[in-house]
Amino acid sequence: MIPFSPPRIDQKIIDEVTDTLKSGWITTGPKTKLFEKKLTAYCGHKSTLCVSSATAGLELILRWFGVGEGDEVILPAYTYSATANVIVHCGATPVFADVNSTDFNINVAEIERLITKKTKVIMPVDFAGLPCDYQEINELVRAVDIKKYFCPKTTIQKQLGRILILSDAAHSLGAEYYGMKTGSLTDISVFSFHAVKNLTTAEGGAIALNLPPPFDNLEIYKYLNMFSLHGQSKDALAKSQAGNWRYDIVEAGYKANMTDISASFGLVELARYEQDTLIKRQAIFEQYTNAFSGNSLFQVPIYQTEAKKSSWHVYALRINSISETQRDAIISKIFEQQVSVNVHFIPLPMLSFYRKLGYEILDYPTTYNNFSQEISLPVYYNLSHSGIEKVIVAVKNAVKEVVG
Ligand SMILES: *Cc1c(COP(=O)(O)O)cnc(C)c1O
Repeated sequence: MIPFSPPRIDQKIIDEVTDTLKSGWITTGPKTKLFEKKLTAYCGHKSTLCVSSATAGLELILRWFGVGEGDEVILPAYTYSATANVIVHCGATPVFADVNSTDFNINVAEIERLITKKTKVIMPVDFAGLPCDYQEINELVRAVDIKKYFCPKTTIQKQLGRILILSDAAHSLGAEYYGMKTGSLTDISVFSFHAVKNLTTAEGGAIALNLPPPFDNLEIYKYLNMFSLHGQSKDALAKSQAGNWRYDIVEAGYKANMTDISASFGLVELARYEQDTLIKRQAIFEQYTNAFSGNSLFQVPIYQTEAKKSSWHVYALRINSISETQRDAIISKIFEQQVSVNVHFIPLPMLSFYRKLGYEILDYPTTYNNFSQEISLPVYYNLSHSGIEKVIVAVKNAVKEVVG
């Protein structure tokens, strides 16, 4: 069976994790802090806080920005549930925008149509690793006629004076937009290091701070560091120093810190990410595209344009002019040939919880169209050339059987 995206666990990872286990310090400590510095240097934003997941990171930022009841947050209808769930946790209203038919990312004209006096945050999602249209999105929230709608409630909101852009960059570590890496493309971005992501720490995430003046990103880092650790004035490492036991709780914070065990995965993975992981993933994407492009049955994904370069996270193939039922049948026939595939994602308005809140998929026609024709193919470091060929044959056979 060809798996979908197993993590790359080799001797280097095992050695680094073992080193941490033997060091006597397994929770947040020197390796997490080093991983943060390396991420900042790699992406080119201002400061990085590592956390226990992207979900936790997104929620921390919404809460830091003071998002709550009566506020609206705009996000694509086509994303993983985490992006929307955190808005619900804060008591705010998720406002779904339809996506592009070309590349699956949030449609900027839709964002503009949905902005109201209640909009506090926009959460673009870099679907499959392709950066969203950040130039247009950044300009939109700075436009005079959009800014005048903004009703700040907190000191931080007043300081920013406009809608915050919080990028769900769970897929897009290392992706580029006009030569700049995600993390540095907008106000704040959050990466995921979950086991299926390009760079994994088993579970984990990182908040990339890149706020414009007058914000001091280092000060915000310090605040969020405390906010993600009970609101405690000292972390465990600082407290463990001789005589340094006394601490204070400044506010009722959260518990979302990264452990040094996770950071040890991250350090090994990041060191080989650009020159090894991404190169390998790109080669897999290109082998798929060579096989499926120029065939009217298939629509291959966009992963490189003049402005953008993907992180090659999800190979989102579409089968032209099929129904959702046909797509599901094709997937069954692919699995019968010992190949695992996936669907990214089930649109949020189709999930019970969001349906119960009153969202309807009919309102997001492009999202539904993209979803109904989409099949995500396996991409992982140890996928061999012949493995890829096996996937291609399985997909073509399955499509032929179902579509004829
Ligand atoms: C994986 C994923 C998340 C959640 O990441 P975690 O680290 O598991 O919390 C959020 N958004 C998108 C688009 C994802 O794919």
